[in-house]
Amino acid sequence: MLFGALEAGGTKMVCAIGNEQGEILERISIPTQTPDGTMPKLAEFFLDKGIAALGIGCFGPIDLNRSSKTYGYITTTPKLPWKNYDICGYFREQLNVPVGFDTDVNGSMLGEATWGCARGLDSAIYITVGTGIGVGIMADGKLLHGMLHPEGGHILMPVRSDDTYKGKCPYHGTCLEGLASGPAIEARWGAPAKELADRPQVWDLEAYYLAHALTSYIMILSPQKIILGGGVMHQTHLMGRIRQYVKDMIGGYLVTKELEDLDSYIVLPSLNDDQGILGALKLGMDELDREKGTPRIS
Ligand code: ADP
Ligand code: ZN
Repeated sequence: MLFGALEAGGTKMVCAIGNEQGEILERISIPTQTPDGTMPKLAEFFLDKGIAALGIGCFGPIDLNRSSKTYGYITTTPKLPWKNYDICGYFREQLNVPVGFDTDVNGSMLGEATWGCARGLDSAIYITVGTGIGVGIMADGKLLHGMLHPEGGHILMPVRSDDTYKGKCPYHGTCLEGLASGPAIEARWGAPAKELADRPQVWDLEAYYLAHALTSYIMILSPQKIILGGGVMHQTHLMGRIRQYVKDMIGGYLVTKELEDLDSYIVLPSLNDDQGILGALKLGMDELDREKGTPRIS
């Protein structure tokens, strides 16, 4: 059986056709412009491919409440042409198949839980550190939504005493995204993050903030694994610093087998950057099962 997968991002849309084994058979990438310009191209790719369902991992905020009139919409996004846009409705109408829908980071979390390093676990988190910071959460075998969906990138942060940067988030200033996203690094230090590789103080501060947030997630969610993806994590030396800070910040308060082996507990994604598209594929598979009345996880 074939399924469609869409990783809907603010800069590009990645579309793929895959199967139940998590094999991607075909994929394309299209720049994200306006719905009128972009959506027909996406539908054209999926049409006539014989897909049984489509799954979408989407930038947000989005409406995931199945009893809401705007379920399946992109809602209050700052990407204005996409504000209040019924992305699921469009595909349901054009393709006439079930459409599964979740946040991009919950999608990546599901990809890792199904085919990657979180397989067999029932609680884990996936964090992307890129243009923004987002957190996908699997808790007790389910992707967490709550009243809307978690926005773990926007938790408020204490600013370290040696950091004078005012923060990049237009809503909160110095939330995690405001302090530690790629654009925040660039604004604070005056050069794109990838050009700062040889400046240890940049990455010490970055690791400090990420570890601070991770420690909060650990205390609140008790994940069995933490996966860190996104462009900023291409600075692979960050990992060691983050693990060390997390250990210090937990301060010996928690004693678990996971925390004794931080190299296996806080990890990079395991699916060659396909975690998002594979998660979208699984969202489609799960939606088909759901409509047939036999839901799997999520
Ligand atoms: P997006 O979040 O837009 O989906 P990415 O996850 O690739 O895309 O994140 C883009 C951000 O990551 C940019 O702010 C960029 O500065 C940063 N980035 C990309 N590559 C690197 C790198 N090698 N080192 C540090 N930062 C990087
Ligand atoms: Zn914020």
